[in-house]
Amino acid sequence: MHDMNAQLADMGLNLAVEEIQLFTIGNGRPANRILQQPFRWVPNDARRAAQDDDLTYLIDLSDGGTASGLSAAQTAAVLDNSMTTWDTQPNCADKLDIVKRADTGADPDIFDSFFPPFPPFDNPFLADIVNAGRLPRAFFGAVTGAPDNVLAFSVTFIFTDANGPTDINGDNYLDTALNEVYFNDTFGTPGEPRAGNPWGISINLPGFDVETVGTHEFGHSFGEGHFGPPPTAVMNPVYAGIRLNLFPTDNAAYCANYGSWPNP
Ligand SMILES: [Zn+2]
Repeated sequence: MHDMNAQLADMGLNLAVEEIQLFTIGNGRPANRILQQPFRWVPNDARRAAQDDDLTYLIDLSDGGTASGLSAAQTAAVLDNSMTTWDTQPNCADKLDIVKRADTGADPDIFDSFFPPFPPFDNPFLADIVNAGRLPRAFFGAVTGAPDNVLAFSVTFIFTDANGPTDINGDNYLDTALNEVYFNDTFGTPGEPRAGNPWGISINLPGFDVETVGTHEFGHSFGEGHFGPPPTAVMNPVYAGIRLNLFPTDNAAYCANYGSWPNP
């Protein structure tokens, strides 16, 4: 991560990777009580070309299909459902509007470009939150060291300047710049160790449900950390079957982040 941040600085980008959150299978860390993160989005932040008080997201369709046979259109549709789940969150959702941006074909994500042979990015500010799609086992091995146990991960970048991380609105949180979500396509790939655990839609274990994982990952995109179990939450760090609806702790974390967000 240090090397990557040095390279970002060399490129003249005032960005740094702040955190990578893994969503795993099997045994996770119990009682992992990190509900809030040390970074938050800044409303109207000109550095990320903010769309007023909204947060924007984009689904990169170029890596949207799965080895298990889902098309990019199918995965995008359920990931839209995941976003809608947060956008219609019952307590504080009226404070924040979540707006989808179309995939223009430009490469919108930074993180994979540091892992050859993935190509350089075009523009990291096409949207605040980017679902980068499905990447192969080798990529997950290089990033996590556990390519057969990590379903997906979220990468959060913060803004920096010559003095280090910034807090331009004085809220005592670092300023989130970008969030990228990557899915592991080794699940369901014939001939690989997780061939018997395919990605699917409304699929039960031993398969993995795209919308459930999307809802978890987008929770990180909104600044939520892992929590529990107990209690049961979308933000539990280990996959435990289909979970399409938010639990009380998920709602509480969201309200903590957005209860004071400007109401447009
Ligand atoms: Zn997670």
